[in-house]
Amino acid sequence: MLDIAKLPQAPAERIIYVNGEYRLQSDANISVLDHGLMYGDGCFDAWTGRNGFIFELDPHLDRIYRSIFSLRLKMHLKKEELRAIIIETVRRNALKDFYIKVLVTRGASPEPVIDPRKCGECSVIVFVRPVQTEVSEEQKQRGVRVKVLGEKRIDHDTVEPKIKSLNYLHIVMGKLEAWAAGYDEAVFMDVRGFICECPGFNILAVSGNKLYTPSHDILQGITRNSMISMAKERGMEVEQGFYTLYDFINADEVMITNTVAGVAPVGEIDGYVIGTGKQGPVTACFARTYEEWLQNGTRGTQCFPEAWEE
Ligand code: PMP
Repeated sequence: MLDIAKLPQAPAERIIYVNGEYRLQSDANISVLDHGLMYGDGCFDAWTGRNGFIFELDPHLDRIYRSIFSLRLKMHLKKEELRAIIIETVRRNALKDFYIKVLVTRGASPEPVIDPRKCGECSVIVFVRPVQTEVSEEQKQRGVRVKVLGEKRIDHDTVEPKIKSLNYLHIVMGKLEAWAAGYDEAVFMDVRGFICECPGFNILAVSGNKLYTPSHDILQGITRNSMISMAKERGMEVEQGFYTLYDFINADEVMITNTVAGVAPVGEIDGYVIGTGKQGPVTACFARTYEEWLQNGTRGTQCFPEAWEE
């Protein structure tokens, strides 16, 4: 249990790490010449935490360092240093349940020009904020309504989707398309009509004793990996491959997953009701287990060891 009385004193305002300093949010800023702002030239990652535990700290760190390497960013902080900064930012915000976001950009350019060689040191920003849900309880109860997007997922021969880059315009546009049509969320296909992922979520399906999920043109989600582990622990068959809309609308259950929302049941895709249209038993079990993992520190790193007692 986490003894709240032993947490550091909460700051009056949120604390954000920016380029070597821990600053009050009202005083946290970066250059208007930053390549992240001008060209979306950078990457990010996000973590969630409960009871002081950061869930899967190292797999997310490994993912952001793979993004950094792939984008040829000249990152000055070693993985261990960024890891310590993330924990310190949580500590300074004295939050028990939180969401963390780390941005790494190519840094500021001397002029508003595209030449990436002219950028200085990478900009590094670490935000910590209280947990907020991306899928409402009401949506989880009735099943998320998903629209198949007209716009296609940017594929691996354009911008590699495994890189969690700052280029999220297609995701913003996808969400806007879904909401304009009265849906809660959406799903991208690739140009050949294979299902990829949702704007900001992975998508998985259950049929009988099998869990299946697209293998290609996706961000390799950490929550998706948790679902795969849970399925294997239950003795389910796990398959990653190429699936069409047919494979998803004929599933017993469909779920979408990400770090912020956790696990959410899909009730409908483009008017096709999935299973009963409500959360199925496997999705319910995975959602419950995932929440337990977050709460009890499974795969977690405790930020306030002085306040945690088994
Ligand atoms: N796909 C995309 C494009 C995402 O941005 C995210 C995270 N927001 C996910 C999938 C889910 O990944 P994770 O479970 O690691 O949050």
